[in-house]
Amino acid sequence: MFDNLSDRLGNVFDKLRGRGALSEQDVREAMREVRIALLEADVSLPVVRRFVDAVTDKAIGQDVLKSVTPGQQVVKIVNDELVAMLGGADGEPEGLNLAAKPPVVVMMVGLQGSGKTTTTAKLARMLRMKQGKKPLMASLDVNRPAAQEQLAVLGQQAEVATLPIIAGQQPVDIARRAMESARLQNADVLLLDTAGRLHVDEALMAEMKAIAGVSTPTEVLLVVDSLTGQDAVNVAQSFTGEVPLTGVVLTRMDGDARGGAALSMRHVTGKPIKFAGTGEKLDAIEAFDPKRVAGRILGMGDVVSLVERAAETVKAEDAERLAKKMAKGQFDLDDLRMQLKQMQQMGGLGMLAGMLPGMKKAKAAMAQSGMDDKVLVHMDAIIGSMTAKERRNPALLNAKRKKRVAAGSGTQVQDVNKLLKMHQEMSRAMKQIKKMGGLKGLGALFG
Ligand code: GDP
Repeated sequence: MFDNLSDRLGNVFDKLRGRGALSEQDVREAMREVRIALLEADVSLPVVRRFVDAVTDKAIGQDVLKSVTPGQQVVKIVNDELVAMLGGADGEPEGLNLAAKPPVVVMMVGLQGSGKTTTTAKLARMLRMKQGKKPLMASLDVNRPAAQEQLAVLGQQAEVATLPIIAGQQPVDIARRAMESARLQNADVLLLDTAGRLHVDEALMAEMKAIAGVSTPTEVLLVVDSLTGQDAVNVAQSFTGEVPLTGVVLTRMDGDARGGAALSMRHVTGKPIKFAGTGEKLDAIEAFDPKRVAGRILGMGDVVSLVERAAETVKAEDAERLAKKMAKGQFDLDDLRMQLKQMQQMGGLGMLAGMLPGMKKAKAAMAQSGMDDKVLVHMDAIIGSMTAKERRNPALLNAKRKKRVAAGSGTQVQDVNKLLKMHQEMSRAMKQIKKMGGLKGLGALFG
């Protein structure tokens, strides 16, 4: 997602940053390129215009051009405008509004195939697991065959209750029954998965209005497929004004959408993007965070996501053990192995490279040299073929032992050597960190 846009903008800004002084002409030229990049990313024209005008005004109107780092300042202005474009004034993520008297009704609307049913289950699962809520889900989709059954199956996977299906019952009646059932079960949140159509039509809108009429939802979330770009924007436009939308969910953000939908949605609907779907599995949903997304687009990396992911996958004791060893200047192959495993759990090299600042190029280089997640598996196999003694004291590994390890792990001696070299470099780096004052030093490295 955003790869192309990110590359294009990266080129524009590299040029700007590379200069000591900027003229108004330089800024205007750069903005022309930004404009093209945004249009190619399928951002809708009025949004692009507004964006470019705002950035140009700010960059030229203030003392930016006279500052010591004009290029950097322009990038900051672009960043701030991107955040505003993605998410309103404060740029903070907006979650579900659950303040109303329970059961709070969350109504999901959108076209068929947008990911509505999956998203309903993802949200319900998230409410149950992360917020300790008791959700109930009901499918009001009587058009698509087996839609209600699909939600029931997802409900089982998400361990969330679904309303029992009564064949032949119509959407508004199902909604009424769902409300009643949610009250009886003391559910906190009732998620209503409504029917989609292939296109927006009057019958669909009438049905949505009728359902909203009987269920008075606190949230009406429009689910749109980010891969459909400008179409997603048109769909959003058709829904806006017909049903009282409170937010948008963008699905398939894991695909290679050009980004236009994400960047136009706020302006077109006037409503925040609340969540992003990032895969088919039920845990593949994230709160949409405008600041982070802007950072990702500008290639500044998504360090916050990375840190969060690390916190989720890395066990606290492991981290502590490693920190202690690092403090003592020890870092053996067992530790390296643990790190490799964590990298795998965090989604592999590609995922990490995509999130780290300045790693886009490294990622491309890695792909070119054939360095991929298989390497992690190989490294693990190599360490696994060593004895416990060798792992603690790699210096023991002479030529004969290396041969044995290579044979045992199905690799070559040169692979074993590569791994040992990497370990050496890592432990050297860690010793340096220790010299610089431990973890505080680590902060200094990145700061
Ligand atoms: P509905 O017709 O709107 O209810 O759409 P579904 O929920 O049935 O989803 C259609 C397809 O899209 C299913 O195969 C889902 O697994 C898939 N899907 C939904 N959300 C995402 C997402 O965020 N990423 C990816 N890769 N696939 C998704």
